[in-house]
Amino acid sequence: MSSNIHSVVIVGFGGMGKYHAELIKENNSLEVVGTYDVLEARRTDSAKAGYKVYESYEEVLADPAVEIVLIATPNDVHKEIAVRALQAGKHVICEKPVAMSKEELQEMLAAADAAGRVFMVHQNRRWDEDFLTIKKMYDQEIIGSLFQIESRVHGANGIPGDWRHVKAQGGGMLLDWGVHLLDQLLFMIDSKVTSVSSSLSFILGNDVDDGFEAILQFENGIKAIVEVGTTNFITLPRWYVKGIEGTGIIEDWSLTGRLVTRNNEGQKIEPKPIRAGVGLTKTMAPPSEGATITEALPQPAALSSSFYDNFAAVIEGTAEPIVKNSEVLRVQNLIEAIFESAEKNQVLKDFDMYGEGK
Ligand code: NAD
Repeated sequence: MSSNIHSVVIVGFGGMGKYHAELIKENNSLEVVGTYDVLEARRTDSAKAGYKVYESYEEVLADPAVEIVLIATPNDVHKEIAVRALQAGKHVICEKPVAMSKEELQEMLAAADAAGRVFMVHQNRRWDEDFLTIKKMYDQEIIGSLFQIESRVHGANGIPGDWRHVKAQGGGMLLDWGVHLLDQLLFMIDSKVTSVSSSLSFILGNDVDDGFEAILQFENGIKAIVEVGTTNFITLPRWYVKGIEGTGIIEDWSLTGRLVTRNNEGQKIEPKPIRAGVGLTKTMAPPSEGATITEALPQPAALSSSFYDNFAAVIEGTAEPIVKNSEVLRVQNLIEAIFESAEKNQVLKDFDMYGEGK
């Protein structure tokens, strides 16, 4: 827990900037003191909400009362805003996806190192309860060790009608949602990704992807299937995971789901053949009665503190960051591998996930 309240200026007071302002109100370690946005309408919103409105970014950087710059602008300007803030001696919270490329991210990390300031990326979906439920199942092998993890988000609204359509601004669903799902997987699975096979979809005719599918093979044997879609009028479950002893499903963010495991106590009864379609099958027949046990999902795992409290404690030198920059770099490398695999229509086996160079 932090001992002080640290002052934050939000740069980019759009959808996410406003959401941060609300969340930070519920928190004791940070306080939003002002905002800066290039749009007049957003400055008006900020004034109405009672924040100090900075008229230029220079004014933010020159204000010694500002300890932290929180970047919630479109993705193409994250780097410039972050580097300037760090050089001005501010700590930085940066929205995801952190940057447009590995090179940009490395520049940001070098600036943080040179300035001796904290730079942390808002990978907030590490705190999602659906993910933390899967993480608990993975860590504690509740359905045996997991060998296949399918993580999906499906919508039917297309790409939102803003900068997310524009390639030069870092639009597209791999950068927008993919970064969350990949970050969750790499945070949970401490193993190298040894191959990547992916495809992007352009169903809506934009120059950025409106969805993608990636199949990742990990060195420890786990296969992950990651899928984002924006033209799915019927959704598949958020999570579908297979372990040695059973199968788990989480349908949605409200944690509707169940585990079905093998009943090792039960008498082993061969399933009876069933008619399936016009054929006959024993392999695909439902398990015989008593052969399986259906259970509720476990309680989600818990992280040690909220994102904001952790950030404050890192500034004060009393905690390690929950979102480490080395992890963010790994995810960035993986995203670039997914783009490359899709573009070449190839399984990629020789990329350097840890970022020492390609
Ligand atoms: P938005 O378009 O609603 O808001 C962006 C704001 O930034 C706008 O008000 C715009 O005027 C302002 N802006 C643009 N360039 C600027 C500059 N150079 N200086 C100052 N202000 C500038 O976008 P959004 O949905 O709020 O997304 C912002 C960021 O937050 C993106 O990086 C996005 O990926 C991220 N995001 C994260 C989550 C999450 O859950 N972590 C959710 C949504 C968005």
